[in-house]
Order: sequence, then C-alpha cells, then structure tokens
Amino acid sequence: MARISTYNRTRELMDKYGLTAHKKYGQNFLVDSNIVDIIASRVPEDKTVLEIGPGLGALTEVIKPETAYEIDPELVKVLNEELDGYTTVINKDFLEVSDFGDAEVIVSNVPYYITTEILEKIFHDPQKVRKIIVMVQKEVAEKFLGKGDSKDRGPLNVLMEYYCDIEKVCTVSRNCFYPKPNVDSEVIEFNFKNVEELEPEFVKMVESGFKQRRKLLTTNLKNEGYEIDAEVAPYIVLILVTL
Ligand code: SAM
Repeated sequence: MARISTYNRTRELMDKYGLTAHKKYGQNFLVDSNIVDIIASRVPEDKTVLEIGPGLGALTEVIKPETAYEIDPELVKVLNEELDGYTTVINKDFLEVSDFGDAEVIVSNVPYYITTEILEKIFHDPQKVRKIIVMVQKEVAEKFLGKGDSKDRGPLNVLMEYYCDIEKVCTVSRNCFYPKPNVDSEVIEFNFKNVEELEPEFVKMVESGFKQRRKLLTTNLKNEGYEIDAEVAPYIVLILVTL
C-alpha cells in the first residue's frame, strides 16, 4: 500500500473518512515521502518519541512515536484505524498537556500560529526532552537560526540559544503539502545542551528583561523587582551576549 505521505493515499483517506482539511487546525498534510524520510532519519532509534499533531499519520507511520497528541477527533479515529496500533493517539490540545511522560524526542509539524507557544511550553519545562524536531514557516525558522532581524528577537531566542544547538534540517516547499499553504517551510532541530542547568529563575529573568523593548535591560529587570547586584550581573551578561 502507498505511504500516507503521498497525494493519492492522503486523498483516498480523506475521501474514505469524509474529511476536509480544517483551516482552524492548520491542516496541511505532508505529501512528500522524501521529507518524511529526512525527518525520520533525525530521530534516534533508542529514544522515547512524542509527536504533536500527527494529522493523517504521514510521519507517524514511519517514526512510530510512543505517544501522539492530535486535537481533531476525526483524525484520531483515522489514526486508530489506519496505523498498526503501536502509537497511543491522544485526542487533546498539546497546549493543555503538562506531563510529557518519558518523551526524550518531540517531533512536530503543527500549525505555524501555535509553534512559538508550543516551543515556549517545552522550553519552560523540558522534563526529559533533549531533542525537538519541528517544521516551521521559513521566516520563523530563519529567526530561530539567528538570521532574522534583531528587533524580532525575544526571550524564546535567548533561551533557545543558551540551552540548545539549533540546526537546519531541510527546506520544505509549499508543494509538499495538501492542501498547499501560502508559505514554504523549514525543518529545524533543537538539541539541548545545558539542560541540567535550566533554572526557572533564569527563564523568568530573561522574560522580564524583554517586558518593555524600548527600555534598557537593567531598567526592565529593576521594574520587575530585581536588585541589580553582583549575584544577578552574570545573568545579565549572559542575556546580553545572546541578544
Ligand atoms: N503531521 C501531519 C503531517 O505532517 O501531515 C499533519 C500536519 S498539519 C500541518 C497539523 C496537525 O496538527 C493537524 O493534524 C492538526 O489537527 C493538528 N493540531 C493543530 N493544533 C493542535 C494542537 N493544539 N494540539 C495537537 N494537535 C494540533
């Protein structure tokens, strides 16, 4: 049988289950098996994997994550009937998930409008996660890779660069999806390196530093109640070097 990541099989599944792609869930399904293989090749075999937004299962049937969170109940039904049962598919908005279980790797091709929120969520409390492979809009990827305009940078960029090595995996043309979106994408990978040092206080301070962009970092921190003393100074230097 053809792979789910082909135009014909995707159309066939949508017809079989009477589905239309819901814009409100950002449903653009991957119909290029080469891209699926590239992403799958980045997933270590011996790690516990969690997928966010499996859709019709294009990535899921190959990567075989232990767990997948899908917001659309109609797609959960398809996944439970079409996949081999290896993956536990949970019908839930990932933004409401607080326990990532044993997940060490997160793979995600979710709508662009929630990518930042999802990454923020994981960065705030990565638990056992040490790798994130995510498909994002090309412009957003450039920003994460440090190529964007510095005025677009925010606390997430600082945290990502401090805690991770960030790498571009591949570019994905809009033609690789059905229905076709208006933008091209990139797959990027975050490999956590300083995670044992992830300190909630540091995360909070980085966020405080960005509260009012026009103000000096030290002014923002003072306004958020920080005493700028010798204890805080090294963190300020750290934030400034990654800005
Ligand atoms: N991963 C599939 C693929 O590559 O073909 C589907 C990609 S599609 C761009 C995004 C998927 O994420 C859809 O299946 C959508 O229903 C699901 N989704 C959207 N918001 C979600 C959320 N908050 N939590 C979990 N899944 C979500």
